[in-house]
Amino acid sequence: MESKKLKNFINGEWIESKCGDYLPVEDPGTGEIISNVPLGSKEDVELAAHQAAEAYGTWRNVPVEKRIQYLFKMKSILENNADEIASICTKECGKTFSESKAEIVRAIENVEVACGIPTLMQGEFSEDIATGIDEFVIRQPLGVGACIAPFNFPIMISFWFFPYALACGNTYIVKPSEKVPETMTRIFELFEELNLPKGVLNLVHGGKPAVDAILEHPAIKAISFVGSSNVAKYVYSKGTANGKRVQAQGGAKNPLVVMEDANLDTTTRIIADSVYGCAGQRCLAASTIILVGKAKEKFKNKIIEAAKSKTTCYGLDEASQMGAIITKESKNRILRIINEAESKGAHLLLDGRNQKVKNYENGNFIFPTILENVPQNAEADTTEIFGPVMNIKYRNTLDDAIDLINSGRYGNAACIFTSNGGAARKFRRDVLAGNIGVNIGVPAPVASFPFSGWKESFFGDLHGQSKHAVEFYTQTKVVIERWHDEWTRKF
Ligand code: NAD
Repeated sequence: MESKKLKNFINGEWIESKCGDYLPVEDPGTGEIISNVPLGSKEDVELAAHQAAEAYGTWRNVPVEKRIQYLFKMKSILENNADEIASICTKECGKTFSESKAEIVRAIENVEVACGIPTLMQGEFSEDIATGIDEFVIRQPLGVGACIAPFNFPIMISFWFFPYALACGNTYIVKPSEKVPETMTRIFELFEELNLPKGVLNLVHGGKPAVDAILEHPAIKAISFVGSSNVAKYVYSKGTANGKRVQAQGGAKNPLVVMEDANLDTTTRIIADSVYGCAGQRCLAASTIILVGKAKEKFKNKIIEAAKSKTTCYGLDEASQMGAIITKESKNRILRIINEAESKGAHLLLDGRNQKVKNYENGNFIFPTILENVPQNAEADTTEIFGPVMNIKYRNTLDDAIDLINSGRYGNAACIFTSNGGAARKFRRDVLAGNIGVNIGVPAPVASFPFSGWKESFFGDLHGQSKHAVEFYTQTKVVIERWHDEWTRKF
């Protein structure tokens, strides 16, 4: 049977892409082709941007209390269809079913926070800044917004942005990753029940051609990007040069420090969950584990045991604790990085290469892998691997560990495990990273906090989620009003 060709959703209708080129989308756990996605075209984006700009004229005049009624319905739709959405996500993304379900929870959280827009968007007012003069700030929407999403969270990431943008009165275009296009397509099908006015929320598929068209279209005023650092930098520089607001979240290589006074069982379990969750394809995954001082003797073997205990299997299999790598190319890249580290002298404490999952021999699986003593000239030392590979390092003191962390290119997240408040406080203050975990392995901010990120993990000023998203998708207008007594006494 021929697999389906996905369509764009523009101005309330499912429309075939103007681009004739389609990319097959494979189930990473089986290798089976499950759909075909258009590579995207300028015409698709132009049509979506035009319709979104038309819809903006009326949407921004819908009272805010009415706008958020659509979000309340959105929450119910996501809740009522969570299992179906999670199955589609698992099939095309390779993660486990429970990881897909967790994404929906995070998406819903963002819808809930965006329902607070009537308060979050409120302005400020100062009476009598001079005789008979008042001054105030109002927040107004920007126009058309767009988000460009990565493959690793097909559900959650777009929700860091568009619920806030819509609630603030903007209209929107979502561009999912071409590697996982079906999940968002299904969400948009379900959202037809919302009966949003046509053109308010649009879906455009594609890869680079669609992104470039978004970066160039004059009607698109704000862009939220999440993906690898090099593309984030490109999107940020091109988008801002074209006069748009851009927030661009990039890649990561997150360190996790273990002090000798950390709890042995909890810490090792959480480390394995952090490194191997989503098969290491998570921007907040710990990838470099730094054992400080005597933590080496206490933790090393237990960490290896915890890693070995993970069951790698097809994501929809109930036993699965770790799913597949997104594509064959990604799997081969990860294997190449491990091989190179080994050939340059790194020790393989746990080797997850050359392993097969029974009944899923064509899947892109790599089992948990641990490297030790990776030399500085190996790619594994500094590059984001984005796979189930842990790199263990040793340092004598916390200061040495912090120096190592701060010398890195990225600043997405950093974690410390300790029972010493002073060590935790020093870490929190001195580490150059935007999301800090203290006895937490994946410091993912809840929706009411911004998803931070520093250095080459973020380009821009305001982050996704929370009040940051509200500020990003609105602009302030200051009004100074004089109602002089002499003019107003007549009533
Ligand atoms: P990617 O950069 O390859 O793709 C992201 C998006 O950019 C996709 O929609 C893709 O179509 C588009 N794109 C890809 N190449 C492009 C190009 N040359 N020009 C224009 N557009 C292009 O990222 P990915 O592989 O889908 O996702 C994994 C990356 O995302 C990792 O680096 C990960 O750390 C990062 N990520 C970061 C966060 C965060 O919050 N900082 C969250 C999730 C993922």
